[in-house]
Amino acid sequence: MSQQEETARPDADTVEADAAPPYEQARYRDGDRYEPLLSEKRQQTTTVESSLPDAVTRDELTLPGLREPEVARHYTRLSQMNYGIENGPFPLGSCTMKYNPKFTEDVAAHPKAAIHPRRADADQQGVLALMHRLQDVLGRIGGMDAVTLQPPAGAAGEFTGLLVAKAYHEHNDDERTEVVVPDSAHGTNPASAAMAGYDVVTIPSAEDGRVDLEALEAALSEETAALMLTNPNTLGLFERDIETIAELVHDVGGLLYYDGANLNSLLGKARPGDMGFDIMHYNVHKTFATPHGGGGPGQGPIGVVDRLASFLPDPHVREGDGGYERYTPEHSVGRVHEFSGNWLVLVKALAYIIRHGDEGLENVSETAVLNANYLASQIDYEVPFGPFHHEFVASAGEQDAADAAKRMLDYGVHPPTTKWPELVSEALMTEPTETETKGRLDDLAVAFNAVAAEDDTTLADAPNQTAARRIDQTAAARNPRLSWHALGGDSE
Ligand SMILES: *Cc1c(COP(=O)(O)O)cnc(C)c1O
Repeated sequence: MSQQEETARPDADTVEADAAPPYEQARYRDGDRYEPLLSEKRQQTTTVESSLPDAVTRDELTLPGLREPEVARHYTRLSQMNYGIENGPFPLGSCTMKYNPKFTEDVAAHPKAAIHPRRADADQQGVLALMHRLQDVLGRIGGMDAVTLQPPAGAAGEFTGLLVAKAYHEHNDDERTEVVVPDSAHGTNPASAAMAGYDVVTIPSAEDGRVDLEALEAALSEETAALMLTNPNTLGLFERDIETIAELVHDVGGLLYYDGANLNSLLGKARPGDMGFDIMHYNVHKTFATPHGGGGPGQGPIGVVDRLASFLPDPHVREGDGGYERYTPEHSVGRVHEFSGNWLVLVKALAYIIRHGDEGLENVSETAVLNANYLASQIDYEVPFGPFHHEFVASAGEQDAADAAKRMLDYGVHPPTTKWPELVSEALMTEPTETETKGRLDDLAVAFNAVAAEDDTTLADAPNQTAARRIDQTAAARNPRLSWHALGGDSE
């Protein structure tokens, strides 16, 4: 491509067939504009001199030959075409997209925070001490006896937890084949169970949106390895019968698994361990503030009760006679990730927990619950069920929830999660989180209510005010093209 030529445009095959090509309609607030790639703005070919062998070097290199202000403007502009928690609320239900305070980044950026995991225990006592403290504090928050920090995401925590359950049953010569999951569960629950080699038994919810005890009893048997549950559930409702549920599961010899993604509503108020759960994961990137989404690093530690502690991944951290040390738990399921997973996420989580303290964490949950119930009370869409904990699920009614969500983008706010859980038709699953003020929640309600009053044609045509209009989300997920080559570069 020649210098300053601006012809290359992305192919249209990630866009719905009847939509205009992407970026042709690109608009961002200050009018119609397409932001070219740096390489489309200006290219410059440089001769390369290197002392490396010819076989691994090139003679020439073509790079964008731009001055610093143009580069700065390019990236600023791209960031403005995007939407994140620092633009406004991000009420994506189940995801807990709270604002992440900057001081945790400062702590994680401390030069002494990054230490090579293969150094000897004696050379990284600070790292091990931090891990030990986080294990301990997470255990106390969840009411669990032992915690491993190793799994790198919530889903990885679920998978690890089920491997622990499996190892435990097998250790007791008790082969079990099934994992029971309510129909309101997050998709990762059945997926993790299947990956761990279990048959998934789905149970319907009762009319009040909670676990149907009769359906649960009918599904439980000697084959039940575990029941996976989140509480409050994905409708934001607390499972009041949790003690009975725990009893039913334990009576058939099964284990109770807690999907901890919704822990943001319970901090300092209630503990899964006290409710009878045996295994849980913590989405530290959701509850304890690390930027997440878009596949960014998270961390999904798991906690277990005493009788499962010897099955945790290897290595585990303990305090020995000579200081903190790594060791292999007696019946360990093995390693699920390199040592400490996404280590700096753990540093941020502990910083966040310490800064908040007991009272601060309680306040997080109280405000998260208050905000969800306040917003639910302000919107015109029907909101079945309630009262809620950290999130609520509204129904878009006659509207298509996905269209309504696209339209909300035109009002400058991020839409909620849509079409799940399926218990509510055309679901708008909304979690405002504790970091929003009343004013922000009122703004959100204005956007919800404006969209609620609009007709289908308007919704189907949305969004109009965003940098890219409708993209084919399925194709984007299944056939991601993450290289600039795919956008019309001169070599593949
Ligand atoms: C986010 C979430 C998960 C999975 O966590 P990841 O860290 O995204 O893998 C599991 N269950 C629920 C309810 C969730 O919201």
